[in-house]
Amino acid sequence: MKFFFPDSQDQVDPTFDFLTEERDPFRVRQRDDLYAHEVLKPPPFNGLLVSKAIVDGTAGSSTGKYTGPQRHRLYRQGARQFFRLNNGSTPLKIMGDCGAFSYVGEENPPYSVEEVVSFYEGCGFDYGISVDHVIFQYEPKIVHTDDAAAEWVRRQEITLDLASDFWRRCSASDVHFIPLGVAQGWSPESYAHAVKELQRIGYRRIALGGMVPLKTNEILACLQRIDDVRESDTELHLLGISRCEQIRTFADHGVTSFDSTSPFRQAFKDDRDNYYAPDRTYVALRVPQVDGNAKLKARIRSGEIGQGQAMLLERSALARLRQFDKDEVGVDAALEALAEYSAVWDRKADRTSQYRDTLESRPWRACDCTICASVGIEVIIFRGAERNKRRGFHNLHVFGQRVRRQLGEDDRD
Ligand SMILES: [Zn+2]
Repeated sequence: MKFFFPDSQDQVDPTFDFLTEERDPFRVRQRDDLYAHEVLKPPPFNGLLVSKAIVDGTAGSSTGKYTGPQRHRLYRQGARQFFRLNNGSTPLKIMGDCGAFSYVGEENPPYSVEEVVSFYEGCGFDYGISVDHVIFQYEPKIVHTDDAAAEWVRRQEITLDLASDFWRRCSASDVHFIPLGVAQGWSPESYAHAVKELQRIGYRRIALGGMVPLKTNEILACLQRIDDVRESDTELHLLGISRCEQIRTFADHGVTSFDSTSPFRQAFKDDRDNYYAPDRTYVALRVPQVDGNAKLKARIRSGEIGQGQAMLLERSALARLRQFDKDEVGVDAALEALAEYSAVWDRKADRTSQYRDTLESRPWRACDCTICASVGIEVIIFRGAERNKRRGFHNLHVFGQRVRRQLGEDDRD
């Protein structure tokens, strides 16, 4: 089972000083900042998923995450060198897709098959996913002749036509990447239909799209129905799915790879599951920057609270947490400083009991990842990109361990 991590140009600055929060003035972001696969040894994933929408943006709806010079460098150097994939202990693979979520609201996908093929080939990807159009709905009872299914049928046909064109162009120009066709559907029956058609075109690697909002039993129902039509040598990729407690079952249904950002994003998007441990998650300790917190800035502007006082409470919370990590103060002293600062920026949520749980467990001390070993309690402080992204990287490390544990093997090849 191969895990691909979707790239969004998330890197950390190795020169960042946690005490002064300053950076090396000579740091060059592109050259010196590190990707997750460079920080974590060994890398917790087998490859990166790179979306054309993230690199290039889409004409109408979104702009890419790449600057112009970055984009040119990716094309000029190729993905392997751009992402420094050979720097880690294990060389990683690169899979490309179009980022169909970014244009789900459009009538048609904004990219031509020709430009997508040249994107994958030009950047030197190992795998390339055909152009698709997402179907979000899950309605197992609605058949394809039903009026209610008209738009879903249209999207499925677009996706299959584009997959057919993609296969033809890849074969004709003898590309260096392995093409994957995308199956979109709204029911077990319609997914099985798409898989059957893709196999007829010639695909033996098929990505299942549009399953992110589905419940686990709905995904399983689709996989079971796909089993009826799946050739024995057809391999499936689950787009955007990370339910690792089901990974063994997915594997039994021909799934050989998947991708997900959720272990990374939960570090700073989730309300409580911010820090992964092998068997559970913890809430991160929120100490936002006075300058970076909108609610707090508004209170300072209105004169409700002095800026100096807020900064004092912020610094005191950080200092107490560090003292706690050195065993110089107890849990209650650390909690008290967190509560005093929270009172000025977050009067609604009382997280004391969750924070107590995090502090008493000290999960960062038990973690063997390179981040926890080097930055200690800073990894679990919810504050700014340098800490939050490191916690996201740590989560990827733990997630990789969980996946391998579920599979009962060390799947590093
Ligand atoms: Zn860790």
